[in-house]
Amino acid sequence: MSEEFYKVIKVSDNTWSIESDMVRAWLFTGSDKALLVDTANVHGNLAEVVKAITDLPVILVNTHADGDHIACNDQFETAWMHEKETELYLSRAGEGFAEPAVLSEGDTIDLGGRVFEVVHIPGHTHGSIALLDRENRVLVAGDTISDRPVFLFGEARDIPAFQKSLRRLKEMSKDYDQILASHGSCCVGPEQIGNEIVCLEECLAGKVAAEEPPFPIPAKMYCSHGAGFYLTL
Ligand SMILES: [Zn+2]
Repeated sequence: MSEEFYKVIKVSDNTWSIESDMVRAWLFTGSDKALLVDTANVHGNLAEVVKAITDLPVILVNTHADGDHIACNDQFETAWMHEKETELYLSRAGEGFAEPAVLSEGDTIDLGGRVFEVVHIPGHTHGSIALLDRENRVLVAGDTISDRPVFLFGEARDIPAFQKSLRRLKEMSKDYDQILASHGSCCVGPEQIGNEIVCLEECLAGKVAAEEPPFPIPAKMYCSHGAGFYLTL
């Protein structure tokens, strides 16, 4: 049953992408533990899929609490997330969902020989985070960086904070070569951050034409410079 929901792609020796319905969870392993980042959009048996990949104890981290990242949180006991995300998470959590445990800027998640560092990047939601693996030069960026349009309208969005977070990620880009995204292409280069910065500036300046989104949402789609956003301007 699980296979029909999830497509597992081994990206490297210790990294898997678990894709379902236009969103991607990530699984990383170290020598002692595994890290699952987000729990997808559809409610299959994600825990079983993870178990088939690794028998290491699994730490679940949510990049943020949008519905397409927490659907299988009921299959885990604890969900680590930024301290500013717990309120939104609890307002959206269904029955039996994992209890939130809090992460802060600079906290590290040590899997044994593989360490991820928490980077707070508010904007998409107040408690959105990225995870930086300095040694492997990889950034897991949730919904903030993508080559598909990023949702920037509705509850918990903060456009000025999002712009500030983009600038910060750009400044940090000497620390990573690859960005692992939740939507669109699985891996994009740091140049996508610059694309989003320019695109969003142009959107806010009224220089980008509004298009109809490919699905019914109360926002318009704006695309330029290889980046895009769903916005209500
Ligand atoms: Zn998402």
